[in-house]
Amino acid sequence: MSTVLLSGTATDVGKTWWGRATVDILRAHGVAVAARKPAQSYAPDELGTTDAEILAHASGEPAETVCPRHRWYPLPMAPPMAADALGLPSFTIADLVAEIAPGPTGPAAMRVVEGAGGPRSPLAADGDTVTLARALEADVVVLVAPAGLGTINAVRLATAAFSDGGVGARLVVALNRYDAAEDLHRRNHGWLAADGFALVTTPAELATSLIEH
Ligand SMILES: [Mg+2]
Repeated sequence: MSTVLLSGTATDVGKTWWGRATVDILRAHGVAVAARKPAQSYAPDELGTTDAEILAHASGEPAETVCPRHRWYPLPMAPPMAADALGLPSFTIADLVAEIAPGPTGPAAMRVVEGAGGPRSPLAADGDTVTLARALEADVVVLVAPAGLGTINAVRLATAAFSDGGVGARLVVALNRYDAAEDLHRRNHGWLAADGFALVTTPAELATSLIEH
C-alpha cells in the first residue's frame, strides 16, 4: 500500500476538492483506495459537508472511518487549538497516526491522507502536516497550490518545509483551478516546471501519476 499525503500551500486552496476527485478517479480505475483525515475542525454549520464526509462519499467508507469521531472539532481553528478552546484533551501526531483506520492492503492499494491547513499549520500539540508525512513515511506528497498570482513563492516555501522536515517523498504540485487560457497560469506552470517541480493541473492527471509510479 502506498501513502499519498495531501497538503496545500495554505488553508482553503482546494485540498479536499482534489482528494475527492482523485479518489473518485482512482476507484473508477479499479484502485483500492482509502481516504483519511486524521483530525478535522470546521464551523458548526459545515456539518454534513466536512472534509471527512466529502472524502467518505468518494472512497465509499463511513465518515467515522475517514476521521475518528472524537477528532471532529466543531470550531474553525487548527485542530489542536480547537481542542484546547473546546476544553478537550490535547493530542499528539503519534496519537493521530495510531488512530488511522487500516485501509486496503496490497502493493497497488493506496491511502490518501489529507493534512490540515498548510504544511506548517498545527495539526497536533507537537506537530504539523510535515511531521505527519514523516511519521507515515509518505510515498508521495501532493501539494495543492493556487494557479495564479503568488504561487511560485508559495510552492517554493511549502516544498522547502517538507524537505527541511526530512520528508523524502516524491512531490507533485497540483495547480488548482488551472486555466490554460490564462497567460499567468501558463507562465507560472512553465516557471515551476523549469524549477524542477512535477506538476498536474487536473485530478485525472494526478490519478495517472499516482497509478504509474
Ligand atoms: Mg480540506
